[in-house]
Amino acid sequence: MGDNFHTDEAAWKLKYFRHLERYEQEEASWQKTEELLRRSLSRVSLAAEGLDPELDTQLQGLRKAIRQGVNRSELAHHIELLSQALTKVEDQGAGSAVRTPAEAVAVLIDKVVWPRALHRRSKSLRKQLQKAIHPAQLPPLLDDCVALLRDGVTLDKPTDNNENPSLWNRFFANGRGDEERPNLDQQESSGSPLALATTVLQTIVRVFEDHDDFPATRVEALEKQLNTVSQPHELKVLATDIALLLGARRQPHPEGKKGLTGSAELIPSFANELFIELLERMSLPGEVESEAAALRKRLSSPVDKRQWPSILEKFCDLVAAMRRNVQEEKRDLEHFLSQLTGRLKELDDRLQGAQSGSDRTLINGQALNNAVEEQVSGLASTIQQAVELDDLKQNVQDRLEQIRRHMDAYREEEERRIRTADEQMQFLNQRLHGLEEEADALRSRIQEQRQRALRDTLTGINNRLAFDERLDQEYSRWKRFREPVSLTIWDVDRFKHINDTYGHQVGDRVLAAIAKLLASHIREADFIARYGGEEFVIVMPGTGAEDALAVAEKLRDKIATSQFQYAGTPVAVTVSCGIAEFSEGSNPERLFEAADRALYQAKEQGRNRCMQAVAAA
Ligand code: GH3
Ligand code: MG
Ligand code: MG
Repeated sequence: MGDNFHTDEAAWKLKYFRHLERYEQEEASWQKTEELLRRSLSRVSLAAEGLDPELDTQLQGLRKAIRQGVNRSELAHHIELLSQALTKVEDQGAGSAVRTPAEAVAVLIDKVVWPRALHRRSKSLRKQLQKAIHPAQLPPLLDDCVALLRDGVTLDKPTDNNENPSLWNRFFANGRGDEERPNLDQQESSGSPLALATTVLQTIVRVFEDHDDFPATRVEALEKQLNTVSQPHELKVLATDIALLLGARRQPHPEGKKGLTGSAELIPSFANELFIELLERMSLPGEVESEAAALRKRLSSPVDKRQWPSILEKFCDLVAAMRRNVQEEKRDLEHFLSQLTGRLKELDDRLQGAQSGSDRTLINGQALNNAVEEQVSGLASTIQQAVELDDLKQNVQDRLEQIRRHMDAYREEEERRIRTADEQMQFLNQRLHGLEEEADALRSRIQEQRQRALRDTLTGINNRLAFDERLDQEYSRWKRFREPVSLTIWDVDRFKHINDTYGHQVGDRVLAAIAKLLASHIREADFIARYGGEEFVIVMPGTGAEDALAVAEKLRDKIATSQFQYAGTPVAVTVSCGIAEFSEGSNPERLFEAADRALYQAKEQGRNRCMQAVAAA
């Protein structure tokens, strides 16, 4: 039993350490995957942040989902939504620069160099415009915009010392701002978003009209087109044109050395800047980094109108690369999550397997499983929340260390349990061994007692109880084999007289001497017993009555001729004997009666003689 236990223990330990080793190996690849996940999420964040309100919402949802725990299907759902939102943003980015009236106004605000005093207001308005998704949100914002423009004129009047007059200042140098108000009021009454947007654009164009930097013919054409706008897409096209015109204006050189007409004076249009900004906000994979840099370079100087299609194409390629990258990272994330699930399952399986060992092992295993699961969940949220790579690394290391500590504790507990079991087993073995020894001793003691119970204390030969047993056994054997079995019964002649003459103690010694003499002259197979008082019996297996009579005669003669003495005086001792054997219809009782009858006859016929039973026993 002990050996089996040790073999099982060794096998279990081997299995356990193999699992531990594999676990440690997997930790490394695990860490790698986590790193990928972190990169994925941070890139998604960078790419997405502030690009689009819907995207921001999805990103928040993803973060929340990861924080709340590792639920694969929920996460996958969030990633899908995020991917869709990203795609939408990419499509928008690859399309026109200005999509809505709100954006047109926002672009205007972006491009104006605001006086310092208006920075905060302009920023706030910019933000509000960004959030204004519904057309109904626009009218009050337009009011704010016009008010801001007016205040800008008042605050930022050109001075002689101002060598670098702001764009804004030059736009409104003629002080036309006040006249724009009635138009907006009209628009408010009309309530149409399209009309509102048209008004804004008209306001802007009117600014162009009054400024020398813009070609009059183009401004005039724009004004006409704005008056006939009836569809949102027309407005969109016009907004883009206006924006391009705004970017293409000539800017006086700060030092005034170069003329306003030189083509080298063209500054990059705001479209260029817009695309550069978008490029910077896109988190591009390393392999397209050089292409992106080349594109940025092209955009950093004025672009000929004919070059735009190829630039846009290039830009679309980069957006596609970014999208591929995001999808790849999404796959990495899914892979990581499935790995995580697999790991937990494996851990669970292993602990389930160890369960067969004992219930205690199962409980320990479940505790470990819970602890590991908790760390893994924590790990997922850590990855999401981490901002710095070093922080993340440290945190992941801490958590893995935590898991390792749980594993160690589990192993120690299991080893302790095994040791305890081993000790218990040894203790039980000792106990069992002791019990076996006790049982052996008990057995021999019982046997001894039994032997004593079957022995006659005075003579040392078998007693009546032993005789009864033996006679029964011989009877059974006789019935089976019909081998002759004889019984001789002996009685000391006139023993009362011996007792009376020499005393009871002498009588006892005579009895012992007779027993010894009889026992020493019978065969090994014969069975002698003191039946009681001064009577003895001898069972003779394999001996017929006649042969038994011959043996009995010899024994009788031996006793009669023995020289018993008491205090130097010879004591005459004789015995009589009755003999019978098993025969058809007999049993132990009948055999005894027959032999006893023969003994009685021997007494009757004068004693010191042996008589064989005449009738069948
Ligand atoms: P018989 O020839 O007819 O057998 O005469 P007997 O005297 O032997 O007959 P009886 O049966 O009357 O006497 C037997 C005596 O044996 C009586 C008893 O006191 C004595 N006796 C019985 N058991 C013991 C014993 O264990 N020790 C001694 N010393 N005497 C015993
Ligand atoms: Mg007697
Ligand atoms: Mg007698």
